[in-house]
Amino acid sequence: MENVPLVPPIVQCPSCRFPAIQDAYFCYNCGKPLRPKLESISIGKEIIVYLVSFFLAPLGLYFTVKYIRQPGEVSRRIAIISMIITAVAVIIAAYSINTFLQSAYQSINSLNAGLF
Ligand SMILES: [Zn+2]
Repeated sequence: MENVPLVPPIVQCPSCRFPAIQDAYFCYNCGKPLRPKLESISIGKEIIVYLVSFFLAPLGLYFTVKYIRQPGEVSRRIAIISMIITAVAVIIAAYSINTFLQSAYQSINSLNAGLF
């Protein structure tokens, strides 16, 4: 009978040398990520996603859909934050348009009042 290992493969944490299960995402001892290759999103790209989400609000939903499908905590965080920024940008845009229309409506009304 073959000797099947009962425990999953063990790797060493690169930061603290603490043994960790190969499949683990984080070191149990120091909390450092053990699989950094899984998420390769730079902070610069993250900021661009947020800027696009805010200034080009509908495109933010593209990033939300794109990143929510990818594995990993960073992708999920970017997806959720870009969704929130998109929602905030849409609310601000709707509020500005509403304010603009109301002031335009009021000027037309005062024009009418002056004419008649
Ligand atoms: Zn560690």
